[in-house]
Amino acid sequence: MNISQSQQLFEHAKKVIPGGVNSPVRAFRAVGGNPLFIKSAKGAYLYDEDDNAYIELINSWGPMVLGHAHEIIQKAVADAVQNSLSFGAPTRKEVEMAELIISMVPTLEKVRMVNSGTEATMSAIRLARGYTGRDKMIKFEGCYHGHGDSFLIAAGSGAATMGVPDSPGVTQGIANDTLTAPFNDLEAVERLVTENKQNIAAIIVEPVAGNMGLVLPNKGFLEGLRQICTREGIVLIFDEVMTGFRLAKGGVQERFNVQADLITMGKIIGGGMPVGAYGGRREIMDFVSPAGPVYQAGTLSGNPVAMSAGLAMLHYLNNHPEVYTRLEEIGNKIVVGMQSNMQKLGVNYTINHVGSMFTIFFTDKPVYDFESAKQSDLQLFAKYFQAMLKRGLYLAPSQFESLFVSTALTNEHIDTIIKANYESLEEILVTA
Ligand code: PLP
Repeated sequence: MNISQSQQLFEHAKKVIPGGVNSPVRAFRAVGGNPLFIKSAKGAYLYDEDDNAYIELINSWGPMVLGHAHEIIQKAVADAVQNSLSFGAPTRKEVEMAELIISMVPTLEKVRMVNSGTEATMSAIRLARGYTGRDKMIKFEGCYHGHGDSFLIAAGSGAATMGVPDSPGVTQGIANDTLTAPFNDLEAVERLVTENKQNIAAIIVEPVAGNMGLVLPNKGFLEGLRQICTREGIVLIFDEVMTGFRLAKGGVQERFNVQADLITMGKIIGGGMPVGAYGGRREIMDFVSPAGPVYQAGTLSGNPVAMSAGLAMLHYLNNHPEVYTRLEEIGNKIVVGMQSNMQKLGVNYTINHVGSMFTIFFTDKPVYDFESAKQSDLQLFAKYFQAMLKRGLYLAPSQFESLFVSTALTNEHIDTIIKANYESLEEILVTA
C-alpha cells in the first residue's frame, strides 16, 4: 500500500503540531505505523491523501451515523453558510434545536448548547456543584469524559479515596475532589458515598462505556446508581456523548430505561460539526447563567452552521426509525460473522456489543471494567489493526475504543468486513 503522501505530511506535521496530530489517538502510537492523512470521505468510505479507500468503522468516533457526506447534512450546511457563519446572538435554529432534543431525549426539560463533549461534561459538573453546594464527584475507571482537569484523575492507591492527577498540569487540589470507582462496582460507589457523606455533588458515568473498549453495564448497575443518587441527593450525570442518538433515539436512558438528572451530549448532535450540549431537569438547568448563578458561556455556542447540521441529522433520525433497525442489523451481522470466524479458527476472544457499537478484546475472559479490559493482548490487537488496515478496513487505532457502524454499510460491505476479519485473525494467529 502506497502511503507516501501520508508519510510526508506526518513528517511536516511533527515539526509544527505536537506529536503531529491535534488529538493524541490519531498518531497511531498504540498500533505503530504512520497515521493516514484523510482527504475526503463519502458514504461508507474514507479516502487518504494517496487515494487509498478504506471502509469506515470509526465514523469520526461516532458522529457520522448515516455515513459520510450525507446529502441532507451537506445541503443544510451549504444553505446555512449563505447567511454568514456566526452571529454571537440568539437564533431561531437554537430554539428549534433545543425543542427537538428535548422531544427526543427522555428527562430533558432544558438544554444548553456548547461546542464539544468536553465543554458539555465540564459544564455539567460545575452545574452539579453549584446546584448541590458540594465539591466532590465520583467517576469510573476507564470512562472518558473529555479533557477537563477534573476528569484527568486516576484512582488513588490502596485505601486512599482521593484521586491523583493523571496528567502533568492537573493540580492535586483538583484531584482531591474527584473520586474514582471501578465500572460496574456498586459496592465501591457505596463506600465512597459513605466516606464522603453530604460531600458528593455528582456521579458521572458513561452508561454504556465506549472509552475502555465497549463495556456494558451489568444488570442493576445503572439502577443502583440511580437509587444511590436519589437517596443521597447526588446529581446523576449520564455522559451520552457517544451513545446519545446512537443506541436509541433517546440514548441509553431510553434503551436501558434508567433516568439521569443531567445528560451530556456531543458527536451525532452536530452531524459532524463541533457541537456538544448538556441538559436535564428544569430545576437544575435553571441554575445556569443567566437564569441562575452558575456561569457558563461560549462565543460560538449555538453556531448557526453547526445547528443546521445537527438539526438536519436529528430531524432525519427522528423521522426515520428504520435507521435504528438497520444499525442493529448491521451491528448484529458483523458480530455474528466475527464470532463464527473465531469458532472456525479455534479462538475465543471476547466481543462486547450493543447495537451499532462493538469491540473485540484479545482476551478470552469477560470484560466488565477497565482492569478486565487491560487483560487484553495489546500486541495482538496492534497486529490485527494493521492486518485489517492492509485489507482496507479503518478501525480505531487502540484496543480501548469502540467501533461505530453507520447505515452506509451495505450487506456487501458487511461480507467484506467479515472476510477481512477472518483473514486478519488467521494471519496474526500464525505469527502470534
Ligand atoms: N464524553 C465521552 C463519553 C466521549 O466519548 C468523549 C469523546 O470521545 C467526550 C466526552 C469528549 O468529547 P469531545 O472530544 O467532543 O471533547
